[in-house]
Amino acid sequence: MSTVRIGVIGIGMIGEEHIRRCSQVLSGAEIVALFDLNTDRANDVIAKYSLDAHVAESAESLIHDPAVDAVFVTSWGGTHAAYVLEAIAAGKYVFCEKPLATTVSDCERIVAAEVDGGRRLVQVGFMRPYDSGYRDLKARIDDGTIGEVLMVHAAHRNPSVGDTYTTDMAITDTLIHELDVLRWLLNDEFVSVQVLFPRGTSVAHAKLKDPQLVILHTKRGVIADIEVFVNCQYGYEIRCAVVGEKGEVALPEFPAPVVRHGGAISQTVLMDWKKRFIAAYDTEIQDFINGVSDGKLRGPDAWAGYLAAATADACLRAQISGEIEPVSIISRPDFYKH
Ligand code: NAP
Repeated sequence: MSTVRIGVIGIGMIGEEHIRRCSQVLSGAEIVALFDLNTDRANDVIAKYSLDAHVAESAESLIHDPAVDAVFVTSWGGTHAAYVLEAIAAGKYVFCEKPLATTVSDCERIVAAEVDGGRRLVQVGFMRPYDSGYRDLKARIDDGTIGEVLMVHAAHRNPSVGDTYTTDMAITDTLIHELDVLRWLLNDEFVSVQVLFPRGTSVAHAKLKDPQLVILHTKRGVIADIEVFVNCQYGYEIRCAVVGEKGEVALPEFPAPVVRHGGAISQTVLMDWKKRFIAAYDTEIQDFINGVSDGKLRGPDAWAGYLAAATADACLRAQISGEIEPVSIISRPDFYKH
C-alpha cells in the first residue's frame, strides 16, 4: 500500500493530536475523513491542518467508505467497542485509543470477532511500550542487569482533574496505562489486586477518592505498588522503579534544564501529559501506519486491551470490597500467542 488513507472518529484532544502528527510529523499516511458528533469541530480541524478530507455523515459510513484504509477511534471510551467491532466486520485496520472497551465482556466480543475473522486488525493505544524510558527499563530487566525482579514502585500523578472524573476513572482511565505497561515490562501476568485509600486530599471533589494505592500481585510473586494521585497540584509525573535481586532500574526524570538562580537549584516539571509522551505517540502511530502498509500490525493487540480491562475490573471490585480480589482471565486464543 502506498499512502495509508485514514478516517478519524472523535476529534477531541487526542484525535486532533493524532491528526496533527499524521499530517505534520509522520510519513506514509493521509487523513481523508473525519467524524465527530460536533460537525463544526471536525470542519475546524480540517481547516486548521489544511486537510484534503471530508466530514463523514456517520461513524459507520466512515468505516465502510472504500476510500478509507484504516480507522482511528479517538472518541470517548464508551463508544469504542461498537466502532472497533464495525471496523473488524468491514475488514478495516483500526487503531483504538485506550480503553479498547469499557467492559470486559465488550473486550471479549472484540477478541472473538478478530479471531473469527482470522486476521489481526486491531491495535490499542497503549503508547508506553514505545517510550524510550520504558524500553530502556525493559532492556535492563531482560538482559539480567538487575537479576530476578522482586518489586515495582510506580506512581501516576496529574496536577488536577475536572468534576466529571470519579473514583473508578482513576482505574479505567489512568491506571489502565500502568496495567498494560507493567505486564509488558515484567513479561508476567497479574493474579490479584488490592486498592487502598490513604488520607484523601482536601482538593478532590465529593465523587473522587484521591489518592489511591493499588497493589498488584503477579504470577511469579512480584508485588507492584502503584500510586494514582490525580490532584497532586504540582505537575504531571510518571514514575516507575523496578527492584531486582541485584539492583534497581528506574525511569529517568523528564529532561529539563537544571537552573541555578537566586540561591536555589530548580527544574521544571511538566503540567501536561501531551509533552511527556509526545515522542512515544509519534513512534506508536508511525508503527501503526507502517503495520497497515505492510499488512502486519506489531503494536499492542486486542488481547492486551482485554487483559488490561480484566485487571481493571478486579481493581474496581477491590475499590468497593477493600479485599484482595482475584484477576480472572479467559484462556488465551492461539491467535494471540505470538
Ligand atoms: P475528548 O477531548 O472529550 O474527545 C472526544 C471527542 O469524541 C469529542 O470531540 C466528542 O464530542 C467526540 N465523541 C463523543 N462521542 C462520540 C461518538 N459517539 N462518535 C464520534 N465522536 C464522539 O477526549 P480525549 O481526551 O481526546 O479522549 C478520547 C479517547 O482517547 C478516550 O478514550 C481517552 O481515554 C483516550 N486518551 C488516551 C490518551 C493516551 O495517553 N493514550 C490520552 C488522552 C486520551 P463531544 O465533545 O461533542 O462529546
